[in-house]
Amino acid sequence: MTYVVTDACIKCKYMDCVEVCPVDCFYEGENMLVINPSECIDCGVCEPECPAEAILPDTENGLEKWLELNTKFSAEWPNITAAKEAPADADEHKGEEGKFEKYFSAEPGEGD
Ligand code: SF4
Ligand code: SF4
Repeated sequence: MTYVVTDACIKCKYMDCVEVCPVDCFYEGENMLVINPSECIDCGVCEPECPAEAILPDTENGLEKWLELNTKFSAEWPNITAAKEAPADADEHKGEEGKFEKYFSAEPGEGD
């Protein structure tokens, strides 16, 4: 099992999660983060830290799409281990529906 980041992270990207991960397995895209499922040790400490409730254990139903996306993009995007400033409009996009369809970007972020 692993934890995965879902579309609730898109355009929120608060990054509280990266500060607590003991194995630094978060990777940064242009407007969301993902977890590398083969590096995640399932400790669960990041889940309650996310203000957008974007992080879920893959044992929950219906998360196959996100597991696939986390696996694919963690291999392409740069590692991120320290929080930066969240986007200025992060709160406006918190809880918004359909963010994947509206905003997902496959472009990498800057990483550390
Ligand atoms: S804390 Fe949540 S919203 Fe912020 S970057 Fe991590 S997963 Fe995304
Ligand atoms: S569950 Fe633990 S190891 Fe996995 S991403 Fe979260 S903090 Fe990192």
